[in-house]
Amino acid sequence: MAKHEKSKFSSPRGTSWYGDQLQLALTRMLEKKGVNAKLLLAAPEQEAGCVVYCPRCHAQYTKAREDCADCGYGELLAFEEPATAETH
Ligand SMILES: [Zn+2]
Repeated sequence: MAKHEKSKFSSPRGTSWYGDQLQLALTRMLEKKGVNAKLLLAAPEQEAGCVVYCPRCHAQYTKAREDCADCGYGELLAFEEPATAETH
């Protein structure tokens, strides 16, 4: 089946076709071994005041930024909920 030819080398999010395939292959491999990939990719425990984290090395940052200062990873993820500082 010949779909409309799109660029195979870039996607809207800026991830490469190769990167997508690699992630898919890794996810399948982990599932075969009975490892839940989602658990591995889950957010680390959020530290107070932190808004984004690095999915690779789990460094956390209090200000939104694009890349990780620790490992250089370029796609930091936002925590799903903002940190709620408990005030008593
Ligand atoms: Zn990092």
